[in-house]
Amino acid sequence: MARGKYNKIVCDVCGFAYPRTVMKKNSYGLWVCPEDNEKGYDLVNHPQNKIISTIDRSMFIKDARPQRPALVSAVPVSAWLPSI
Ligand SMILES: [Zn+2]
Repeated sequence: MARGKYNKIVCDVCGFAYPRTVMKKNSYGLWVCPEDNEKGYDLVNHPQNKIISTIDRSMFIKDARPQRPALVSAVPVSAWLPSI
């Protein structure tokens, strides 16, 4: 491929000629302009190729803390009762 300052390539999608410096080759082997680059998505990098998480995070407790043992009083409950 010729490299030059004024080298232009015709976009394989829209048919307009753009400078070589702004053209990119997509995963299909087509030279595309920045408008037809499809936001960087191609055969490999596409949202449909991502694996979604199957964990239901709606049941998770937010800001959970470890359970502490219950406080045990040294004074029995009968000590608080009035004496008859
Ligand atoms: Zn184009």
